[in-house]
Amino acid sequence: MKRFLGVVVFSLSLLLFGCSTDTTKEDREGVVVATTGQIADAIKAISGGHLQVSALMGPGVDPHLYKATQSDLSKLDKAEVIFYNGLHLEGQMLDIFEQMSKSKSVLAVGETLNKSDLLASDDDAMLHDPHIWFDIELWKGVVQAIGTKLQEEYPEFKDDFVANEKEYLKQLDELQVYAKNRVNEIPEKQRILVTAHDAFNYFGRSQGFDVLGLQGLSTDSEYGVKDVQEMVNFLVANKIKAIFIESSVSDKAMKAVIEGAKEKGHDIVIGGELFSDAMGAEGTKEGTYIGMYQHNIDTIVDALK
Ligand code: ZN
Repeated sequence: MKRFLGVVVFSLSLLLFGCSTDTTKEDREGVVVATTGQIADAIKAISGGHLQVSALMGPGVDPHLYKATQSDLSKLDKAEVIFYNGLHLEGQMLDIFEQMSKSKSVLAVGETLNKSDLLASDDDAMLHDPHIWFDIELWKGVVQAIGTKLQEEYPEFKDDFVANEKEYLKQLDELQVYAKNRVNEIPEKQRILVTAHDAFNYFGRSQGFDVLGLQGLSTDSEYGVKDVQEMVNFLVANKIKAIFIESSVSDKAMKAVIEGAKEKGHDIVIGGELFSDAMGAEGTKEGTYIGMYQHNIDTIVDALK
């Protein structure tokens, strides 16, 4: 009898699923893959444990230069939905996303924003500055785009997703208040942020800093002795006391800048390490978007105030 039932169940499932190779909604396992930690963090906040979320790029990884590994390809292959930043941040992975989008849902979150809200780029390879996560208001738009996509893909969890998104957006509003209050501790003319590459233009625009990066928008751009010398002159002329290194970029060039200023009799310190394009380790405060942003704000304010 037992055996007979087994055969019946097996035949039924063949009838139900065997005739189509399409994955039905009921079959789906909730596997969602993002490129950066920032995006994965927003997906996790909205999904509230309903989905299996992973990021391809871990701590210290530079997205501009990142090439997918064999294990990434298999993760992307198993994913039901793929989210990436777009705006040419993941410059080495565009072909893969194009290929994947033929068979599954792929969303470039940065491309969902109004172009008029984006900063232009002077880099030939990109039209817009891709570092959108540093403007909290813009990032809220990204969070909403992620929420809408997840509701479409997994309607069975819609109510939870809507509630979680609302709560996360509230936390981002609180983060913005925190940032504004802390930035106010720095005298206005000292609000100059100098970093290894141009990741902080949105940060500067939204938090009221002048921003200068040694390398361009992408770390694949070259910098030379002339760039270092120009930066040294700028730092000396503006009596800047601290510059910042980034967790995903080598600190070699910034050390050369400090040496150059020293030769001109101007002492500069490294104000600390900022998380620019990659977040901190999973399980640490800086491994979340909100924790990373707070870390950056605290590090910048403590060094420049
Ligand atoms: Zn960057």
